[in-house]
Amino acid sequence: NNPLNGKVALVTGGTRGIGAGIALRLAQDGADVAITYQHSADRAAVVAKQVEALGRRALAVQADSADPAAVRAAVDRTAAELGRLDILVNNAGVFLVGPVTELGPDEVERTIAVNVRAPYVAAQAAVRHLGAGGRIINIGSNVGERTVFPGLSLYSMSKTALIGLTRGLARELGPHGVTVNLVNPGPTDTDANPADGPNAAAIAGFTALGRFAEPAEIAATVAHLSSADGGYVTGAVVNVDGGFTG
Ligand code: NDP
Repeated sequence: NNPLNGKVALVTGGTRGIGAGIALRLAQDGADVAITYQHSADRAAVVAKQVEALGRRALAVQADSADPAAVRAAVDRTAAELGRLDILVNNAGVFLVGPVTELGPDEVERTIAVNVRAPYVAAQAAVRHLGAGGRIINIGSNVGERTVFPGLSLYSMSKTALIGLTRGLARELGPHGVTVNLVNPGPTDTDANPADGPNAAAIAGFTALGRFAEPAEIAATVAHLSSADGGYVTGAVVNVDGGFTG
């Protein structure tokens, strides 16, 4: 059962954590997969090998999401080298946290460039390649909707912006048969937010389930939204957060 057979996906920030989990799940479901990365060429190569071990084609592209030209080039290269583009997953993100008195314009610029402008630019570039049945899935955050700790103003602001982007794009691309959704992960065990980190117990305590997610649990929802079965879901904000928001 390979619901994504013949499809091509691009996952930004696919070397580790949630992005790697999504890349591998989409490959398991039958898609050829391109990933982007910023620094981790070695880890990108490992994920590409894992995709190939699943019998799919893989492509790893160095592309700093803060650079719009690099983001556009990654989208176009995916379509050129893998032959088409069906699924864009805007996953790469930066997590700059701290008091509002300490995070200044440079941090604001960086956060907006990677977390907001890059998804917009990638979607813009992808539109030319996506046909009917195409998918854009943005990765937001549970704290876009419920910000339980101080220090998250900037990060939360950037993730809340994705709600507007998702809804606007859904309206714009719906007539072309392309769906656009936002998946908001809850606390997920990754390098950025390790389940054994100093604040992990407090963070897990805000979920109904009392635990962190594994990247595969976020990826499962992305896979559903990517498949034909998810075809009537668009403009939605899907919380995969263990009840953090509820
Ligand atoms: P990680 O820090 O574990 O991994 C980040 C990934 O993004 C890496 O592959 C990294 O590549 C890539 N990346 C980072 N910055 C850039 C950039 N400027 N250009 C290109 N690639 C980049 O993050 P997570 O897996 O934890 O998070 C993934 C997404 O999920 C993010 O959008 C995050 O905001 C969101 N999220 C995470 C939660 C969590 O608890 N983990 C909760 C809610 C949302 P490289 O290895 O080359 O640096």
